[in-house]
Amino acid sequence: MSVLEIKNLTTTYGPVKALDSVDVTVGAGQITAVLGANGAGKTSLLRTVSGLVKPVDGTITLDGTDITGKPTESMVHRGMAHVPEGRGVIAELTIEENLRLGMRGAAKRPNDVPAPVRTLDDAYQLFPVLGDRRSAQAHTLSGGERQMLVIARALLSRPTLLLLDEPSLGLAPRIVAQIFNLVRALVNDSGLTVLLVEQNARSALSIAHTGVVLNLGKVVVTESAEVLQNDATLRHSYLGF
Ligand code: ATP
Repeated sequence: MSVLEIKNLTTTYGPVKALDSVDVTVGAGQITAVLGANGAGKTSLLRTVSGLVKPVDGTITLDGTDITGKPTESMVHRGMAHVPEGRGVIAELTIEENLRLGMRGAAKRPNDVPAPVRTLDDAYQLFPVLGDRRSAQAHTLSGGERQMLVIARALLSRPTLLLLDEPSLGLAPRIVAQIFNLVRALVNDSGLTVLLVEQNARSALSIAHTGVVLNLGKVVVTESAEVLQNDATLRHSYLGF
């Protein structure tokens, strides 16, 4: 069963075609990694799915409902949480205050949705470092801790689909591995579905079930993560490792 069906999606910025007839299916309880070089269209894909950008063509279906062109404010109550690039937190607020902002989204969700993180304590159990520093202002956190904070904040809105944009950017390999293993464990334990955008193909494929490679706005490969990892020709041609 699929949670997200993207069909023939085309997004333009003036004369630039950022997405060109993109088809992606995101299976329930799976991690789908969207890979590709700088400018391939990865961020545009997430921004279009979450309604920040309106497509010029195509459809986006979430849990069987057509959400194409629906306002981005409605996505949280539909069960989608988007963690954009850049780890945006409110720097002067404490970690706990930032997390409470995520809980405001949950108020719009039905109470009976399965969710791995429902309370602040759940978030602190998953990311103990956030619990230890709950009263510290968010600007005191390291890059890795900030990434954990934005993921925890998104999870507190009780999504069924989590969109993650370049969580590994600028982080040390050890921290990337820690965060990715956590995401994989969450998916395994709770049935959460993840659409993960990454330039770091090797790390992304180590936790993903499926990989989709974009090039100049088009899907050039859709394969199981296992095949992509093990096929040297595909790796060299499309992933650079
Ligand atoms: P990166 O890894 O650098 O974020 P990406 O794969 O996410 O790259 P996008 O950011 O989606 O790629 O960009 C796809 C194309 O759309 C690129 O040619 C980019 O220059 C262009 N583009 C992205 N955002 C805008 C914008 N706001 N206005 C005009 N062009 C844009």
